[in-house]
Amino acid sequence: MENSPPPAPLSISEARSYLSSSFPANGTKCGSLKCQHDSNIKSISTAISGIVKVKPEDSKSKGKKKKTIASPQKNTKTCYLITCLDSVIFPMGGGQPCDFGTLLVPSHSLSFEVLDSSNVGGTCVLTGYCQEEITDASSLVGQPCTMTVDFVRRMDHMQQHTAQHVISAIALDKFKLDTHSWSLTTTEEPCTVDFKLAEQGDLTLDAVLSNDPFQDIEKSTNDHIFAGRSVVPSWLDVEGDEYKNSVRSRLLPSGFSGLIRVLTIDQVDKSTCCGTHVSTLSHLTAVKVLKIVKVGKNLARMFFVSGKRTMDFVRRSLLHQSRIANIVNTPHLEDQVERVQILFNEKTLNEKKIKSLWDQLTALKAASLSSLAASNDGVVADDLGADVVDKEVYKNLANAVIEKAPGSTIFLLSGGLSAGTTFYMQGDPSVVDAAGKEVAGLLGGRGGGKGGSMMGKIPPGDEKHDAAVRSKLEEVETLMKKLKTC
Ligand SMILES: [Zn+2]
Repeated sequence: MENSPPPAPLSISEARSYLSSSFPANGTKCGSLKCQHDSNIKSISTAISGIVKVKPEDSKSKGKKKKTIASPQKNTKTCYLITCLDSVIFPMGGGQPCDFGTLLVPSHSLSFEVLDSSNVGGTCVLTGYCQEEITDASSLVGQPCTMTVDFVRRMDHMQQHTAQHVISAIALDKFKLDTHSWSLTTTEEPCTVDFKLAEQGDLTLDAVLSNDPFQDIEKSTNDHIFAGRSVVPSWLDVEGDEYKNSVRSRLLPSGFSGLIRVLTIDQVDKSTCCGTHVSTLSHLTAVKVLKIVKVGKNLARMFFVSGKRTMDFVRRSLLHQSRIANIVNTPHLEDQVERVQILFNEKTLNEKKIKSLWDQLTALKAASLSSLAASNDGVVADDLGADVVDKEVYKNLANAVIEKAPGSTIFLLSGGLSAGTTFYMQGDPSVVDAAGKEVAGLLGGRGGGKGGSMMGKIPPGDEKHDAAVRSKLEEVETLMKKLKTC
């Protein structure tokens, strides 16, 4: 360790920079970590090579683009960035999110919950949360520790990542579909692969979106899973013939030389990759292609699930189907679409009937309210009943009244009790604009609007409150009349 330990705590970026620059020569760098040699190892014994306490505020996410670190579930006290001589916890890379895990330091009876890990200039830097406040963190440097990976999360990531390699290889081999990018979601949501179509390619985007090629890709992928093809990492010299002649996808950092990690899936693919992978395709169980959508010019996005996510997807789908079956009272899957279509058609028909009835009711109401307005100095207030009506109904009725009794002003209310009451006023702008707030106050509600119409709401209440609101219609009418004659 050439650099002297800095005064703690540091910001995250300062700590990362310090830990990367002071990483010892006998430590293992990213690209050759234990997890990259054997991704099935769950736990290793190693030693702490660097540890720095970071400022609490820097361990929280701030802003959209800022590097975020998952917060511990427990009420954990302090956050440290830690390096070890080797790592079974994979840092983020190759489209794969980082692993989680734990770090135990027996000499100090300490345990860290590792909730982030990143590749900082080739050094694997862990973010660990500790329940204890460590007075002298530097005393941990050189201490033996046991590092354990959260293998449930790891296996999920491996199942999705290896599946992506197989899918991309088959898509290229069979359909000349180049993988543009892919996304491994950290939730149980499907992962995606974006395929770019060659401008002079054999397939048009429409043909790809027809889903046919992807059914073929899904079948071929599952055939390879059934065959249990082996998945093996190796390290090849980028200047060597084997690398140049046999590796399909050769993505190298600029200026890279020396040995590069290559993942070989027997009879399927040989590509550069830093990620963790299952050792046999049989660990994927099954891959399901879910849908294909267009996401850009000559770009098709395929959604897929692999391994445990496939079974979880089936479980959720069955649950969803079961709920729909209960709602539409149709237990058999093959009958449900027809049943839902019938119900939807009935709904559309009923909506038409309701509209027709409202039109008739509006005409009848308009006839009686317009004659009332004509004999009441051009104002009328009415109660449309206990069901809350929408603004469209209020507006149509008010328009019909004003058409029959030009110059009149109309006040309407509906609803009540737990649903709350709404009210609407339309007509002479000088009356509506002046009376609006006063009427709302009189009824114990709030409302707004101008230019000759206003809409308001009165909070829900009990029967007594409801009766009190409705008893004030006469007062509302009197107020409107007073303003009209001003
Ligand atoms: Zn990969």
